[in-house]
Amino acid sequence: MATGKDFGSDKRTHNGKKNANCSFCRKSYREVGPLVEGPDDVYVCGDCIELCQSILEQERRRRGEPKKLFNRVPTPREIVAHLDQYIIGQANTKRTLAVAVHNHYKRLMLAAEGGDRDVEIEKSNILMIGPTGCGKTLMARTLAKFLQVPFAIGDATTLTEAGYVGEDVENLLLKLLHAADFDVESAQRGIVFIDEIDKIGKTSSNVSITRDVSGEGVQQALLKMIEGTVSNVPPQGGRKHPEQHYIQLDTTNILFICGGTFVGLDKIISKRLGRKMIGFGVDSGLEVEKHENVLQEVYVEDLIEYGMIPEFVGRLPVLTTLGHLREEDLVRILKEPKNALIRQYKKFFEMEGADIEFTDDALFEIAKIAIQKETGARGLRGVVEDSIFDLLFELPDQAQGKKYVITPEMIRREKPCMPDAAAA
Ligand code: ADP
Repeated sequence: MATGKDFGSDKRTHNGKKNANCSFCRKSYREVGPLVEGPDDVYVCGDCIELCQSILEQERRRRGEPKKLFNRVPTPREIVAHLDQYIIGQANTKRTLAVAVHNHYKRLMLAAEGGDRDVEIEKSNILMIGPTGCGKTLMARTLAKFLQVPFAIGDATTLTEAGYVGEDVENLLLKLLHAADFDVESAQRGIVFIDEIDKIGKTSSNVSITRDVSGEGVQQALLKMIEGTVSNVPPQGGRKHPEQHYIQLDTTNILFICGGTFVGLDKIISKRLGRKMIGFGVDSGLEVEKHENVLQEVYVEDLIEYGMIPEFVGRLPVLTTLGHLREEDLVRILKEPKNALIRQYKKFFEMEGADIEFTDDALFEIAKIAIQKETGARGLRGVVEDSIFDLLFELPDQAQGKKYVITPEMIRREKPCMPDAAAA
């Protein structure tokens, strides 16, 4: 049994060993925190202990009964019903995703049960096109949670910086492994969401982004992973180096969902359709409408003209577009989903022994400001918090039992948030 000795700040000179390193990953305690000491100057750090644990668990699992994937895969209708509890609008995308995801996991279930060897059903990776803050990430995350599969989010722009050596691409898989507690088998049937996929388009025909050639390199590196390959994932992250041990992860059954705003894609589509479109913006309902209708007409060729390489688009066979959220959608987002902001504030005020209410006009005011900020639903929280920040600061010191009714003037910060006189 190893004797535990903490090499944290106050004990670092213990036994005179100022420079103890983990005997497994070679990192010093300065990098990885306290080390556990064994006999003969052997040390192990927390990260390596975790890794060993997962390797042992995996081995135990491998020897035991194979784990059953699902008892049954939820039907598309059930999936949509679940998404409806958290996501407002975007009906078409919900249906498309539900069918794709149902088929994907049904295919995995069949394969696990021995499968039909005559027909090989290909997996349906998904590409979601839509403005920022309209629910792309939320939808992917909600799906993964519902299906109880590990989920990881990556950002394609961070992959660009490292160039196309491919190492960073595997870091997406490392995140998935983390989400699966290093259970490789479970990670291999997880969902990876890659955001900002439009930002790795080649620049030649890309209308709005000033990235250099590396975009194409990243697409190439992602290609294999998305299609299905056995990837070597460095358990510590970062760059690959020859002495590192890798975890092998087969990506064949991982579902990849890519999201992007594809600014300027509408112009490419309009050009193809021969329609003339002069500028669009969130301030004109009609123009937004037009823009969305145009996006729905997207073809693979348009994405290729945008700068995506054909092989890459080919590996994302399910294509769906999401619309801008309108004022009334944002108001619904504020109050309807299970974890809606207004519900959260109500709970929070309740915990402080107070009560808060937003008038309908106040909710519309919040939505209006968020639309001006062009951040979609993502901006809602900031708008509310800006308006009631002083109140949040004072609340714990205020007398119990007060009720606050938030009005549009308070949202515009023309009036301080005072307790409602009638209710007090
Ligand atoms: P993006 O489309 O840029 O991936 P997100 O899904 O990350 O946007 O949305 C940001 C946040 O905005 C979410 O966490 C959620 O709180 C809210 N949100 C966005 N769209 C919706 C929607 N359709 N229904 C409910 N909430 C939404």
